[in-house]
Amino acid sequence: MRNASHLTPQIERWGLQNAGFDYDIVAVFGSQSTGKSTLLNRLCGTNFDVMDETRRQQTTKGIWMCRGKGMNVMVMDVEGTDGRERGEDQDFERKSALFSLASSEVLIVNLWEHQVGLYQGANMGLLKTVFEVNLGLFGKKSADGRSQRTLLLFVIRDHIGTTPLANLQATLTADMNKIWGSLSKPPELNDRQLSDYFDLSFAALPHKILVPDKFEAGVQDLRKRFTDKSREDYVFKPMYHKRIPADGVAFYMENIWEQVQSNKDLDLPTQQELLAQFRCDEIATVALSEFNEQAKPQRKPIESGKVVEGLGNMMRSWKAGALARYDRDASRYHQGVYKRKRADLISVIDSTISPLFLGQLKNLHKACLVSFKKEMVDGMRGDSYDFAEIVKTARTRCEKRFLEGAKEASLEDTDWSYEEEFTLLSEEVKNVADQCRKDETKKMVNVIERNFKRNISEPVDLYLNKATPDMWDKVLKAFRETLEKAESSYLTKAKSFSCTDEENATALSTLRKRAWLALRSKIDEQTSDAAFLAKLRTHFEELFRYDEHGVPRVWKPEDDIDGAFKKAKDRTLELIPLYSKISPIEPSLAYTLPSETSDSLSAEADDFDFPSTLLIFSETKAVDLTNRFRKDADAYYVEAKRSTVATMAQ
Ligand code: GDP
Ligand code: MG
Repeated sequence: MRNASHLTPQIERWGLQNAGFDYDIVAVFGSQSTGKSTLLNRLCGTNFDVMDETRRQQTTKGIWMCRGKGMNVMVMDVEGTDGRERGEDQDFERKSALFSLASSEVLIVNLWEHQVGLYQGANMGLLKTVFEVNLGLFGKKSADGRSQRTLLLFVIRDHIGTTPLANLQATLTADMNKIWGSLSKPPELNDRQLSDYFDLSFAALPHKILVPDKFEAGVQDLRKRFTDKSREDYVFKPMYHKRIPADGVAFYMENIWEQVQSNKDLDLPTQQELLAQFRCDEIATVALSEFNEQAKPQRKPIESGKVVEGLGNMMRSWKAGALARYDRDASRYHQGVYKRKRADLISVIDSTISPLFLGQLKNLHKACLVSFKKEMVDGMRGDSYDFAEIVKTARTRCEKRFLEGAKEASLEDTDWSYEEEFTLLSEEVKNVADQCRKDETKKMVNVIERNFKRNISEPVDLYLNKATPDMWDKVLKAFRETLEKAESSYLTKAKSFSCTDEENATALSTLRKRAWLALRSKIDEQTSDAAFLAKLRTHFEELFRYDEHGVPRVWKPEDDIDGAFKKAKDRTLELIPLYSKISPIEPSLAYTLPSETSDSLSAEADDFDFPSTLLIFSETKAVDLTNRFRKDADAYYVEAKRSTVATMAQ
């Protein structure tokens, strides 16, 4: 492996992408042509190149990876680690050690039996490199406080059997500790033991060529240690795992390989953080795109003004789904990064759906207001209804519906709020109700005014047709009584409107002015020129043509026609000042209108000058009427005179 960029598709092809931590990595080290590839192929069912025995030619130097057959194991075959006389190889050895240790749980150290104990041998140099590299990588404890452990599994090949495995094991262990002791460690790691970082394990295999059956049996036995989790000597113990999630292994290895190749310092925590950033971003992107797919179809209806039923639940489930998706894959990564990216994801999600929430509120507001108006109109359709009750019921229903909808659409753990929209709605509801009430009050005042006109008409006719000195007292008394009735009828009805005191005052003042004007127009009717002259005539006739017993007079020549005429005329003329001004005898009856100016109900009241309405005839008018009456009276006089002449002539 010179270039690791093809690793991602490879791991996907191996079907390990979703394995999480449920996979293992093993790497093999050892001199050239010690049967490493052969061993791996037999152990794991891989198909690494094996040197062709007939051609005895070294295979390409590099690191090869395969997936073990029937096992979640990635197998790394490190080739060409030999010939320590060549500096170039030492460099490659170091690089492959770095790369393997950064990812593998188990390092197989493959060696011939006759290499055991050769402290100066090529393998020992390799192991020294491995230990040094390991100190650099895992010297300090990791963030979670445990030091990273790796299993070194020594596989002794061509084990003849004369030296028992236990002896070989002791020799190798002693050698390892010697090597460890000879390392120049940084001062802070001086007291660290080999066993702080490595577990040593051993296996021996018989000669493959000489005793192929025994070799095969040995391999099968060894294989169990790679597959049977229940065995005590199972090699892939959790503590050896490098905790790189399977879906990030490729990216991780590619980066590490790159770092190693370019001789950069390999800082694993940084690498893991980089990996976490990269993967968490990728995972978040996938989660977000699924989320967007779900959210998209609701955008249109909201924009077109629809209230989407159950939007909150939908949004909750999209969000929960996206987070679950993210958590499933991303939570395996560096916790700090995972949490930071999670917060980012949440804020992107929230800001994506917040327009839906706001749109829903706006639509809900509109819908609630529309049904409020409709309910008001429907409620006031009949004749008898309690306005205040209608408003109360409609408002309660409207606000309840809004709040229920708004709460449903609100998401937990957000700073979303519907208070403002609710306040707006409440204000609009109040405005609509106020307008309705004003319209209703106006209507009601009109009805009362009509009734008032009807009720005042008869008494005014009656009293003004009988010119008595207390005529105005009677008219004003009738006016007062009728007005009182009208006012109390207003107040009874207004109670259910829950009008404000100011509105009541305005309505009453309007009512009073209109009542007065109604009275005034009724009086005008009775005191029009024609009507009034007729009144004078009648009055005069009654005095002049009838005697005190109401009997028609038949004038005789000796009668004092002139005296009677003058008397009747003078008494009739007295009526003109009586009718010319509304002036009761009893001063308490004098009616004045309250000087109400802020009158929204009646525009005509704006330039209303009450005192001038008390005057019925002006001076000039009175003179004019007097003259016209005189003519009428003169006619009666002439007629009376004629009748005596006629009587005499008979
Ligand atoms: P590698 O270079 O370490 O991968 O070694 P190979 O697997 O390519 O094997 C090199 C040669 O050793 C091949 O010719 C194999 O047939 C042979 N070989 C493999 N395993 C054994 C073994 O256990 N004993 C012996 N003596 N030869 C082996
Ligand atoms: Mg090989």
